[in-house]
Amino acid sequence: MSRGLTTQILHADRLFGAEHGATHKPLHVSAAFGYETAAELAAVFQGDRSGHVYARQGNPTSQALEQKVTLLEGGVGTVCFATGMGAIASLLLALLKRGDHIVASQFLFGNTSSLLQTLETLGCQVTLVDATVADHVAAAIRPETRIVFAETIANPRTQVADLEGIGRVCAERGILYVVDNTMTTPYLFRPSQVKAGLVVNSLTKSISGHGNVLGGAVTDTGLFDWASFSNIQASYKKGAPKAWGLLQIRKKGLRDMGATMSAEAAHRIATGAETLALRMDRACENALKLCTWLEAQPQVARVHYPGLASHAQHENARRWFRAFGALMSFELKDGHDTFAFLDALQLVIKSSHLGDNRTLAIPVAQTIFWEMGLERRQRMGIAESLVRVSVGIEDFVDLQADFAQALGKV
Ligand SMILES: *Cc1c(COP(=O)(O)O)cnc(C)c1O
Repeated sequence: MSRGLTTQILHADRLFGAEHGATHKPLHVSAAFGYETAAELAAVFQGDRSGHVYARQGNPTSQALEQKVTLLEGGVGTVCFATGMGAIASLLLALLKRGDHIVASQFLFGNTSSLLQTLETLGCQVTLVDATVADHVAAAIRPETRIVFAETIANPRTQVADLEGIGRVCAERGILYVVDNTMTTPYLFRPSQVKAGLVVNSLTKSISGHGNVLGGAVTDTGLFDWASFSNIQASYKKGAPKAWGLLQIRKKGLRDMGATMSAEAAHRIATGAETLALRMDRACENALKLCTWLEAQPQVARVHYPGLASHAQHENARRWFRAFGALMSFELKDGHDTFAFLDALQLVIKSSHLGDNRTLAIPVAQTIFWEMGLERRQRMGIAESLVRVSVGIEDFVDLQADFAQALGKV
C-alpha cells in the first residue's frame, strides 16, 4: 500500500488530480479566485468549503507542493512559505505570546538564533541548551515553556541533537516539539519517528537541491494535541483539534505576515524534489568519502561529520539517519592559512549556501557567524579557522583532486 518516497513524489500531482491529466501541477498565477455565488465565497472564507480566496494564503500550485511535503514527512498537513526563515518566523510568531518560554538548542542555525533574540525583545523568554543531551532540555523546561526547538544535525559543527530523548521529554510534559529537518531532509530522517509535533524544512536546500529557488515548509505530524495548547485562538478551534495548529500558522503566517511562496517557486521546488533521494545518496556518499580522506591529511586538525567514528554522536546518527548528510566542517592545523586554502580551490565554490548539487565552502567565523562575535562563537564551539563544506554531487575523484591540490598550497 505505502509506496516508496521517490515513487510517491513522481506520481503525486497526477494522483492528486492535476488538471488535464498533467504530470506536473500547472502554475496558477492568479492573485484572486472568483466564485459563482456570494454564498460560496462566504463558505470558503469561513472554512466550510475548501478553496482559495486570495493567493497570499496559498494557491493551487503551492498547495500541490504542500501535499508532497506532507507525503515526504508522513504528516497530516503542510504550509509552505517563501523561505525557510519565513516558515520558522511564522510558526513562532503565530504560536507564541508574550511571557512564553522556548527551549532551543544552542547550536542553532545562525539566523534562527538571531530570530530568537528578536522574540526576546518582544517579551518571550529563551533558554539555549546543549541539545545533544535530553536531560539539559528537561532541566530547562518551566511551566511557561510552550515550544522546544531543535535541529537534526547542527550547522556548521554537525552536532546531532538527542532527538529521541527530547521527543520523550516533550511527550511526557505535553510540550510542542519542533524539529528543523533541513540538514537531514525527510529522505534521511522523519522527525515524526521521535514524536515531533511540527517539522520545519528549508526547501531552498537539499529538497529543491539545485540552488535556484527559495522556500520553506512547516508540516504537522498529527502527533501533538492542539486542544492542550493554550495559544490557539477561538476562531481557529474549528473541526478536529488536529487541524487547529496548522490553521493558525497559515492564517497568521501567510495571511497576516505574508511570507508567501509563489507558484513559480513551488513548481521549481517540486521538480527538484523528484530526485531528492538520488541526489542525497550521491551527496552523502561523497561527503563520507571526502571526510574519511580529509581526516587522514597532515594539514587537517579536525573533521566534523556524523558519519565519522570520531564524531561524538556517531552512534545516534547511525541509528536514526539513513545516511549522515551532505554537510561537514573541518579545521586546518595552526599555522595553515584557511583563506589561502579556500582561494586555491578551483572547483569548489566559495559560497554561503548549502544543500546544492554543487560543492560549496565557506570560512564560518568571518562570514555567517561574524555578527555574533567571538565570545558567542566560542560558546558554540566555532573555531576561527573552521571551514564549512556543503558537499555536492560532483564525481568524487574531481572533488578529492580539488581538495588535494588546495591543501598542497597551504
Ligand atoms: C537555510 C536554513 C534555514 C533557513 O532557510 P532559508 O530557506 O534560507 O530561509 C533554516 N534552518 C536551517 C537548518 C537551514 O540550514
